[in-house]
Amino acid sequence: MSRIAYVNGQYVPHAEASVHVEDRGYQFADGVYEVCAIADGRLLDETGHLDRLDRSLRELRIDPPVPRTALRIIMRQMIRLNRVRHGIIYLQITRGVAPRDHFFPDSDVPSSLVMTARAVDPVRAAARAEKGIAVLSRPDIRWGRPDIKSVSLLPNILAKQEARDAGCDEAWFIDANGFVTEGGSTNAWIVTTDNQVITRDLGRILAGITRAGIIRAAKGENIPIIERPFSLDDAIGAKEAFISSATAFATPVISIDGQKIGNGKPGQITQRLRAAYMQQAIADAKD
Ligand code: PMP
Repeated sequence: MSRIAYVNGQYVPHAEASVHVEDRGYQFADGVYEVCAIADGRLLDETGHLDRLDRSLRELRIDPPVPRTALRIIMRQMIRLNRVRHGIIYLQITRGVAPRDHFFPDSDVPSSLVMTARAVDPVRAAARAEKGIAVLSRPDIRWGRPDIKSVSLLPNILAKQEARDAGCDEAWFIDANGFVTEGGSTNAWIVTTDNQVITRDLGRILAGITRAGIIRAAKGENIPIIERPFSLDDAIGAKEAFISSATAFATPVISIDGQKIGNGKPGQITQRLRAAYMQQAIADAKD
């Protein structure tokens, strides 16, 4: 079955989907994006992702290309056209197409919207969560606004590739004070030896929608969550560690910089939080 992409008002074969060479996303990384999981054909945490998208656009002073109601319809159409039961929707909005100039273009230049959808094998994803992943720490060299979900991801892709080259699956960014901020494309969590579940407080990180969902789900499980900085040493000495994102949900971390976390196996609290989050997200998903 052929894949379909959405590009500025049109559904086109994925292989032919393209944007203009002077799209500001291409030339300046002047745009934002969202990734939303699809489970059983429904979008998980849709409202959270669309609220964050609105915020990212506001912070960068980019006008939404279409109202939210239209965006929701296009997302559903993309799920149908691509026949995705389990997978992800990627959507990107840039400041539009204009002659290359650092200054913003005239306000009548419409922002660009592109969207893709693809299937992800849920069995493979679950197998990864069963096994756990390895993390490599890298210095956080990103700009001062990682709270904006900008398509400018150079430090993230470099750190993640360094992690892969070292045989790891994710990079954790370490700030100038030695504290973990977040992963290259995930939020970072630890469970201390006295069972405190800790994740970095908001500010110098992306406000993960899955992070927020896990915090909510944890309340129902009577598992308190503490939002505060934790150091790389705290993480290496932790009983459990995990990452969260729309694609990873909660996935256990079993080593950091080659050092085993806990007994080197996925932790129990992590598995409980993963199950509780997924149950909640699926129950909340709307058609
Ligand atoms: N931090 C970063 C840097 C990310 O790129 C992502 C994934 N987009 C996350 C955290 C997790 O966010 P979410 O749970 O909304 O996918």
